[in-house]
Amino acid sequence: MALIVQKFGGTSVGTVERIEQVAEKVKKFRDGGDDIVVVVSAMSGETNRLIDLAKQISDQPVPRELDVMVSTGEQVTIALLAMALIKRGVPAVSYTGNQVRILTDSAHTKARILQIDSQRIQRDIKAGRVVVVAGFQGVDEKGNITTLGRGGSDTTGVALAAALKADECQIYTDVDGVYTTDPRVVAKAQRLDKITFEEMLEMASLGSKVLQIRAVEFAGKYSVPLRVLHSFQEGPGTLITLDEEESMEQPIISGIAFNRDEAKLTIRGVPDTPGVAFKILGPISAANVEVDMIVQNVAHDNTTDFTFTVHRNDYNNALQVLQSIANEMGAREVIGDTDIAKVSIVGVGMRSHAGVASRMFEALAKENINIQMISTSEIKVSVVIEEKYLELAVRALHTAFELDAPTAGNTAE
Ligand code: ASP
Ligand code: MG
Repeated sequence: MALIVQKFGGTSVGTVERIEQVAEKVKKFRDGGDDIVVVVSAMSGETNRLIDLAKQISDQPVPRELDVMVSTGEQVTIALLAMALIKRGVPAVSYTGNQVRILTDSAHTKARILQIDSQRIQRDIKAGRVVVVAGFQGVDEKGNITTLGRGGSDTTGVALAAALKADECQIYTDVDGVYTTDPRVVAKAQRLDKITFEEMLEMASLGSKVLQIRAVEFAGKYSVPLRVLHSFQEGPGTLITLDEEESMEQPIISGIAFNRDEAKLTIRGVPDTPGVAFKILGPISAANVEVDMIVQNVAHDNTTDFTFTVHRNDYNNALQVLQSIANEMGAREVIGDTDIAKVSIVGVGMRSHAGVASRMFEALAKENINIQMISTSEIKVSVVIEEKYLELAVRALHTAFELDAPTAGNTAE
């Protein structure tokens, strides 16, 4: 008998019919002897609808009041699910974040969980009840309702699992697991049985949006075994764990992540003196622009070129700042490029295998894809390439690292 926290996202509770299906699923686990705590999101589209309402009153709604309102989305789904369970003869009770006492800081719309009082839930579990908890919301010390940021129900699920020392936190969603890459780009992408927290964080932050990044961090920190599963299809899903299995069959690369959200800026002919990097990136960071990859070329004729990438939303801002820096420093020119994409190979297997990066470069070279920038970490190699080659690059790498499914199509069914 295990204690399992099951989190169902917005599409999984998007209609009354689906809520009934979720209730069936929960009942099946219960009948199998497990203790279940369920966390649910608002019905899909509901949080957006509520935010739209607020925006009709004000462009910048008061965050405290916004939280009072958007938290109602989850309050509806917990009650409906509890009703659906009770109708099936499963004793159940729903709680808001405030009722559980999910204590957060007071940073409205992006609050962080400080503490969870799990006693009330423990009592209900002992009494044989399924406990249904509202995701995404909490309460601060003064009793104000707070929310955890978009997609925050994942974090509620993980935090509850940690507080209850649950055996597993299951995240039910509209995909059947974490894939080697986006199946819309590579038809032969495969579901991973397992991935480590570290890898998942890289995959998530690089653009695979299966799980909220904060939830993965949280789960890693508290060693909560996390499993991503399809809400309405049977299957083992993907387990996200701490342990790195050293198996011969384990591929060196677990997945290929990519994103089109970055832009590249280059300042050329900068006098090469100590402090150059700081003179350039200081004002960029002061403008609140986050920098991702950085390359500084070896100097010749006492000048150097300096290139970095930023989020595309920050591109215009960064370009302006860079232009004024260039004038001040007497640099030759500033060049910007938004037609870039970043592709990364991710895998803990890199730690114990040499030549992974060169294998990546070889695969790209074979397709005649020019690499503009490179960065590496212990478990990741990223390159910046021209955006129009993105899909070709991802496919080539997927094949080169032997990630393709044995038969055509994906393994989703
Ligand atoms: N309902 C919230 C949102 O749409 C939280 C969640 O779904 O995780 O962002
Ligand atoms: Mg979600």
